[in-house]
Amino acid sequence: MEQERKVDFGFGCMRLPVLENDKPDSFDYERINKLFDTFLEQGFTYFDTAYTYHGYHAEEAVRKALVERYPREKFQLATKLPLRDFKDTEDMEYIFNEQLANCGVDYFDCYLLHNMGTNVYEKCKKYDAFGFVKKKKEEGKIRQAGMSFHDMPELLDEILAQYGDILDFIQLQINYADWEQPNVQSHRCLEVAQKYGKPIIVMEPCKGGTLVNLPKEAETLLKERRPQSSNASWAMRFAASQQGVIRVLSGMNTIEQVKDNAETFRNFEPVTAEEIKVLQKVTEMIEKNMPIPCTGCSYCTHGCPKNIAIPQYFALFNSISRITGSFSSHAVYYHNTSLKHGKASECIGCGQCEKACPQHLSIREFLGQVAAKFETDDIFPVKK
Ligand code: SF4
Ligand code: SF4
Repeated sequence: MEQERKVDFGFGCMRLPVLENDKPDSFDYERINKLFDTFLEQGFTYFDTAYTYHGYHAEEAVRKALVERYPREKFQLATKLPLRDFKDTEDMEYIFNEQLANCGVDYFDCYLLHNMGTNVYEKCKKYDAFGFVKKKKEEGKIRQAGMSFHDMPELLDEILAQYGDILDFIQLQINYADWEQPNVQSHRCLEVAQKYGKPIIVMEPCKGGTLVNLPKEAETLLKERRPQSSNASWAMRFAASQQGVIRVLSGMNTIEQVKDNAETFRNFEPVTAEEIKVLQKVTEMIEKNMPIPCTGCSYCTHGCPKNIAIPQYFALFNSISRITGSFSSHAVYYHNTSLKHGKASECIGCGQCEKACPQHLSIREFLGQVAAKFETDDIFPVKK
């Protein structure tokens, strides 16, 4: 680990505050404005959004809360080409222009191929998505091109060998819980990016909030070691301590979180070898308490023919595993959610969701477990 290094901190806009949980575009602008204002006041400038976030409305929210309220030179903006959505070369152009309009800008500081993986790589080669971002860079519409990657290190190696000269940076899921996880392989992906000398931006440093809302015993362990440090600061420090990491993104919902993260990066202290051992113990405790390692990103729900509320059901299942005794309130939540969505048992097994899941979860199998847990009449009567 390097001792003196500056790592930037970016605002991730995948989970912005909303007024109604079931409406991804019901943005709470009063809160979003305050969060963005505080982030900028703390001296940070980088915002990361995507075409698909918040049911395809996040770019518009960023325009209203950021672009229309601050001069362009006061912030850096990153967004992403939706690889699962574009149809052909013309469509990439169409989407890109739409994104400029959505965001109200005439260039992007960073533009990423979004969620690159096995399921979209062939399509990207066929329509030359890499050549497309190169062209946009030459036109001055993109300052830097990158890709967010959620697949295995072997594929990352193959892509960087082929297209590495086009990509200025790689965005990877790096956190201490996924470090050696076989379905994410943070550590090995990082090593591949390092091999090609690519700067790394970290996404999901807190694994969708999992490393903030830790099991009690894990939180106690961290507090014993550093009483003043938040759970989030441990996760941020771990991610930012890795060689080659230039920036860590964080999705934040409260002013306290923004200030806490800003403090972590302003007075950055790399994690020590001893602290890494503590984090390994914390990982074991999390795994014991979390049977479904879902980050809640919602990539899987787009296009589900049964409109099944996959992340909500998985979150309920995980929280039940942390408690003992009655879980009637969880059954009520399940029941209410299933009135507006398909039930877990209504899955037809088409597998579309699994192709989209960046965590490579066996969603169909887990839905079977969710159904077995919640859809029993003795727990709570659910929609027939
Ligand atoms: S496998 Fe089931 S949950 Fe997944 S997209 Fe198909 S119907 Fe929906
Ligand atoms: S199942 Fe996968 S795609 Fe769906 S919310 Fe969880 S992590 Fe995201």
